[in-house]
Amino acid sequence: MALTAIKGFNDILANESGRWQYIELSARRIFERNGFSEIRVPIMEKTELFCRSIGDATDIVEKEMYTFTDKGENSVTLRPEGTAGVMRALIEHKLYAQDPVSKLYYLGPMFRYERPQKGRYRQFHQIGAEITGVNDPLADAQVLNMLSAIFREIGLDEPTLQINSLGCPECRPAYRTALLSFLDSRLGSLCDDCKRRYNTNPLRTLDCKVPGCIEATKGAPAMLEHLCPACDEHFGCVRRYLELTGTAYTLNTRMVRGLDYYTRTTFEMVTGLLGSQSAVAAGGRYDGLISQLGGPEIPGIGFAIGLERVALLLGQREFSSTPDLFIATMGATEREVAFRLMDELLKSGIRVEMDYEGKSLKSQMRRADKLKARYSVVIGENEVATCKAAFKRMADGAVTEAALAVEEICTAVLS
Ligand code: ATP
Ligand code: MG
Repeated sequence: MALTAIKGFNDILANESGRWQYIELSARRIFERNGFSEIRVPIMEKTELFCRSIGDATDIVEKEMYTFTDKGENSVTLRPEGTAGVMRALIEHKLYAQDPVSKLYYLGPMFRYERPQKGRYRQFHQIGAEITGVNDPLADAQVLNMLSAIFREIGLDEPTLQINSLGCPECRPAYRTALLSFLDSRLGSLCDDCKRRYNTNPLRTLDCKVPGCIEATKGAPAMLEHLCPACDEHFGCVRRYLELTGTAYTLNTRMVRGLDYYTRTTFEMVTGLLGSQSAVAAGGRYDGLISQLGGPEIPGIGFAIGLERVALLLGQREFSSTPDLFIATMGATEREVAFRLMDELLKSGIRVEMDYEGKSLKSQMRRADKLKARYSVVIGENEVATCKAAFKRMADGAVTEAALAVEEICTAVLS
């Protein structure tokens, strides 16, 4: 039996990769404009990094990680997200000593053992950004504006931004107690996962997709009503800055994130077009994370965009580039002339294709059509002798006569 890829691991085929590059380049443009530089970190880390950052009582660490023991008996894990590795690198290389504010972005594959479905895979890709070293709510607003700008750059007005605040270690314990006493009388109506979460991670019950849990947690107290004065002031400023810059958002007081390290501002970009895979991007502030990983007390905020979900939202739009010119030939001598001409055109930046195998003229023209070449030209004995040929515009059949020389082809035909 022929071998297939691992379940939940996808090939990005040539007819799709144009769309991916378009998304990646759009994001890179916005990142660079905002002063962010790319960091490339390994896709595998010591397991402990993710347990200490994402948190032992999260779905990711409890059941979604690709963890195994390597030949040296070390426990290693394929990264389920990007922030932990970037923060590990920041601490390891003391990047904060060179510049107290760092603005980094990354893109690449992430791995989670989940049930594969549309928009949810076991290897998936994220584009993410992180600012560290800034407490000020300006950083939150810039990150949110940048995220909105990326979707604008891509040309999507869906998804929309939802924000919330998860408070800090000062105010969250009292909120947790209030939530627990609310859940006490409703424990019987919660799903098994949420019954467990009641003890380990009660905030996550607000995020459960099971209809019974959504119903049972209606009217639950909101973190926003329990913020301490400092968190309340911080969140108020974030909202003011968003309003000041005309960034549209809605408050979602039930939003909790699936990673333990989040504090204060949290957010998601949400779509109604992908079923329960509604989050296209997500992120938040993580003021305790760097110190928790053994670094100094440095605050941070960031997000990750799910590339597969953005690609799905872009739908079938065509992003592959097509040849400027297809050169068809009649015989062996002409193929030499054509090959040299193709080489010269390629060297001056023109996208050219020709037939590799000396097929019939008819089949060569079929190939020009299939490749969606903008122009085609047939080179036969006559064209070689006169050093001239007729260039046909494929869209309407209009013909332009030009010498078989790069400059003339460029100015008379392709310009
Ligand atoms: P979800 O609620 O859909 O499981 P999440 O909260 O686990 O998402 P994050 O960990 O915040 O997601 O990751 C950020 C983004 O990465 C998500 O908004 C989503 O677009 C994408 N993402 C997360 N998990 C997957 C996956 N298994 N397959 C494809 N994309 C994913
Ligand atoms: Mg998830």
